[in-house]
Amino acid sequence: MSGDCDLLVVGAGAAGISAARQAMSFGLTVRVLEARGRVGGRALTDPAVPMDLGATWLHAAQSNPLVPLAEARGLALFDHDSVRSSRVWMGDRWASDADMEGYDRAEREWHAAVMLAAARGGVRSLGDAAPRGGFWDATLTHWEGPVISAAEAQDIDLDDYLATLLNGTNLLPRDGCGHLLSVLAKGLPITLGAPVERLCWGGRRVRAEGAFGAVEARAAVVTVSTGVLASGAIRFDPALPVESAQAVHDLPMGLLSKVGLRAAGDDRLDLPSFGGIERRLEPGERAMTFVAWPFGRDHLEGFAGGALAWELAREGEGAIVDLAFSELRGMYGARVDRALRREGAVASSWGTDPWSRGAYAALRPGRGGARAALSAPIGEGRLMLAGEACHESLAGTLAGAWQSGARAAREAAAALGLAA
Ligand SMILES: Cc1cc2nc3c(=O)[nH]c(=O)nc-3n(C[C@H](O)[C@H](O)[C@H](O)COP(=O)(O)OP(=O)(O)OC[C@H]3O[C@@H](n4cnc5c(N)ncnc54)[C@H](O)[C@@H]3O)c2cc1C
Repeated sequence: MSGDCDLLVVGAGAAGISAARQAMSFGLTVRVLEARGRVGGRALTDPAVPMDLGATWLHAAQSNPLVPLAEARGLALFDHDSVRSSRVWMGDRWASDADMEGYDRAEREWHAAVMLAAARGGVRSLGDAAPRGGFWDATLTHWEGPVISAAEAQDIDLDDYLATLLNGTNLLPRDGCGHLLSVLAKGLPITLGAPVERLCWGGRRVRAEGAFGAVEARAAVVTVSTGVLASGAIRFDPALPVESAQAVHDLPMGLLSKVGLRAAGDDRLDLPSFGGIERRLEPGERAMTFVAWPFGRDHLEGFAGGALAWELAREGEGAIVDLAFSELRGMYGARVDRALRREGAVASSWGTDPWSRGAYAALRPGRGGARAALSAPIGEGRLMLAGEACHESLAGTLAGAWQSGARAAREAAAALGLAA
């Protein structure tokens, strides 16, 4: 394959799809090269369950650009917050209403303490700002670190954690986020199974090379994860500017892994549809969290984040299934082995997948400015890096990736005089 176009887009995840759509709306000719045999990147819906193995919620729905796009295509969106419920295992019993009131109060105090630490200054990581010693503190720090941010609290920049807190409604596309992106990618000039191995950007044109051949363009938007950038899977020629390379280093990938376990019969473990399960933790403890029977479906979804997720990824396929059963056995005893079955379990593999190398990036403590540095035009705008890690407030989300891709396409086009 060879070819010429105005804008080359590397990667057909949220950022790449958005960049291509934006550039085409200016009338530019576009080519999208995607390494995998599918579009969507870190949004992937397993149609058999059905279940999202990557992105799941459309966060901050009020300002999420994917919400109107989904609605315009008649895709059903469900307000998860309207049915949210949670049970918390205390180690030997379920939390009572009084326990849950204490948990809610502790959560408010935890957030206030973190914000106060940031306002006072002198503290760089979320781990250093997070209160310790309170009955619920370890549970809350584990939730905000590994579960939400996919990284240990000690490894997360405090200011960036606060800047990327998500507010507003959380909507669930009934058919999945992966499905939504595949709908939005329809009709785009995407070549699948085309990993870019070398990207030359030193001349007047950019040139992508790989087993597919070569594609030349006036500008390129590269949307691969910081994990892929750090791996060297794409050889940039010349090498990326030192500021960009430093930003890649400052935004390492965290990991959030998901598993779906199918019901074996009618036992729903006394959990309602969308019923959440958490476990109260002692300092240093780690745990999985669960959401049961989404949309009344017959599977339960488990999540593992941060160091625990990386360990499970290294142990190999099946480790997260074993841990999910073991966690649930601690709460329900042998009943779990009758209620759930191992066959048909599905698990994500973002940690070992060479085209993601993690779930989403977390900013190293004290490295503020890296997201802006990662998004800065390179070679007078001939080369733009884009994707979730570039977004200053919606990092780690589909919406952030989407906006970043569109912005990169606009900037590349404007820099080259291709669009106003
Ligand atoms: C388990 C999990 C849960 C999540 N939950 C949510 C959630 O609930 N809500 C939310 O908004 N976000 C969530 N996210 C984050 C969200 O999925 C990402 O922020 C978003 O999908 C990133 O999009 P992107 O376009 O930046 O990158 P990607 O989706 O990674 O797209 C990059 C594309 O580049 C391709 N590529 C890589 N290397 C090459 C190469 N050499 N040549 C060509 N192509 C290449 C990849 O295959 C990929 O398709 C979650 C992520 C995970 C993993």
